[in-house]
Amino acid sequence: MGMSYLEGTCPKCGEKTREQSNTWAYGSPIRFCPRCKQEYLDKRWREVAIDGFDPRGTSPAYYLKCFVGCLVGLILSYGWYYYTTHYRGYYNTMNIAIIIVAAIGTIGCLGLAIYIGLGFGKKADAKYMEESKRRLRDADYVRKLQSYGYVIPAEYLVGITNSSEEMGGQQ
Ligand SMILES: [Zn+2]
Repeated sequence: MGMSYLEGTCPKCGEKTREQSNTWAYGSPIRFCPRCKQEYLDKRWREVAIDGFDPRGTSPAYYLKCFVGCLVGLILSYGWYYYTTHYRGYYNTMNIAIIIVAAIGTIGCLGLAIYIGLGFGKKADAKYMEESKRRLRDADYVRKLQSYGYVIPAEYLVGITNSSEEMGGQQ
């Protein structure tokens, strides 16, 4: 699936960040600032073994609705164009622009609905799930997510001791 970008601001130093991501931002929510090199939490990233997949990416329903909406927009904007050119003798460029946007939306949403409906996304999803599970096999990483408030499924907690007891001692 296509690439997209997540833009944000580093909470530690205020640097504007812009990261390339996959369509539904599957990846670790623990990010590193390119300027101050500190880590921070960005919950827009989905740790899929915990958060699950984005519903838009696993069911064609979202894009079928989008397709219907764009198609209605396309029909209405074409109707407006037809009316003004045939009965009023003019058209305006805004009308043409709306037709183009609606046509692109109609084709794009139908394409995505078919892509998801036929299961083409499953192979990529399996890869993201495998990467997520691999991260969660790291006890330090799991403790870090817990410290950020994540509820970790029991299967990833095997062999991980309670960090607050472990580090609670004072010298
Ligand atoms: Zn920073």
